[in-house]
Amino acid sequence: MKVMKFGGTSVGTPQRMKDVSKLITDGERKLVVLSAMSGTTNSLVEISGYLYKNNPASANEMINHLEKKYEKHVEELYSTEEYKQKTQAFLKSKFNYLRAFGKDLFTLFEEKVVLAQGEILSTNMVTNYLQEQGVNAVLLDALEFMRTDKNGEPDLPYIAKHVKVAIESHPEAELFITQGFICRNTYGEIDNLERGGSDYTASLLGAALNAEEIQIWTDIDGMHNNDPRIVDKTEAVPQLHFEEAAELAYFGAKILHPTCIQPATYAGIPVRLLNTMDPSAPGTIINNVTEHGRIKAVAAKDNITAIKIKSSRMLLAHGFLRKVFEIFETYKTSIDMVCTSEVGVSMSIDNTKNLPEIINELKTYGTVTTDENMCIICVVGDLTWDNVGFETLATEAMKDIPVRMISYGGSNYNISFLIKAEDKKRALQALSDTLFNNK
Ligand code: ASP
Ligand code: MG
Repeated sequence: MKVMKFGGTSVGTPQRMKDVSKLITDGERKLVVLSAMSGTTNSLVEISGYLYKNNPASANEMINHLEKKYEKHVEELYSTEEYKQKTQAFLKSKFNYLRAFGKDLFTLFEEKVVLAQGEILSTNMVTNYLQEQGVNAVLLDALEFMRTDKNGEPDLPYIAKHVKVAIESHPEAELFITQGFICRNTYGEIDNLERGGSDYTASLLGAALNAEEIQIWTDIDGMHNNDPRIVDKTEAVPQLHFEEAAELAYFGAKILHPTCIQPATYAGIPVRLLNTMDPSAPGTIINNVTEHGRIKAVAAKDNITAIKIKSSRMLLAHGFLRKVFEIFETYKTSIDMVCTSEVGVSMSIDNTKNLPEIINELKTYGTVTTDENMCIICVVGDLTWDNVGFETLATEAMKDIPVRMISYGGSNYNISFLIKAEDKKRALQALSDTLFNNK
């Protein structure tokens, strides 16, 4: 069975809901995860903001406004009175429920319940539409199987057990629809997997069901080999290894968040990124396959600070790196890149909240210097060390650009350069020209 996930823009209008319904009714039985209609979760966050501030009048104004919008959607989406009325009645009950929150104390717990309504509305609307079209679609309540444990982490064994029960209780169903994002915590309270969490839901359900594939449908064209906002003539990347995708995601590419695909990665389930606006485009498949001898893509991460500590005490000493890293640990600051020599260590960080304190403590071990406004350029592909020539190709492309640090060999899939932010565009273009013959 496949698991397909459609994001907020993919279900953002009645027409888009119809388009999605067409895409998911190809005769194959599948589980479809939906986000809230685009903008809805943001509105619910704002409504919660008013309720926190004990301002039910403003909250209700926004709720009424949102309700009007949904009422209009229902008029457009359904062709029969029966389904219009059935869905309007459902909406009414949910919006009345939202209005009732203004009467009592509003806490984090209530906010989670409010935020959950977006996905509850969208999945109900799409399931009703499918049923109106004569499809035997069943709406599965994600709150019955999506669960986090006492550490707030998804409880995969629980999810697997309960989603299977839910599916097996509808042997006649052609299609299953469920809510992304929402779950219950270990106490059974309504919770969520954090903003943008619907991808995570899809990945978890794919892993739970040992799905043949997880498809993530958005409004962009899969993964590009470079940033299309900066570089001319970028191309879609047809395939990425899980590790390549993780490196790219971390380094700012518009791709799934690494934690989102982790469950799929562990279970070895391919994840395919597809475009709702261009459904026949091949998109990008992320799986366990390493395409030998190929550089796949380049991405950049901004707002990086480099820190160098030079110390003669480091020479022939042991335990020096541990002392340095402990300082970063104390200030909960993660290090992205590290380069060492016999007399110095350079590191890069993106969170500079505690930089003055970190520098102060580092100074007890040596001379400290920093470079701000830097940027990491990450080149991803088959960069196994016994492949010859690939790291040279990347460095050759960077020959006119001042490079502060290079990191190679940390994984088999990556080489990173730390450069000045002002050189970013030039570097990305040069890498594109050299690595992807983009001239
Ligand atoms: N609706 C939620 C959000 O906007 C979850 C999602 O769309 O993935 O964050
Ligand atoms: Mg890191």
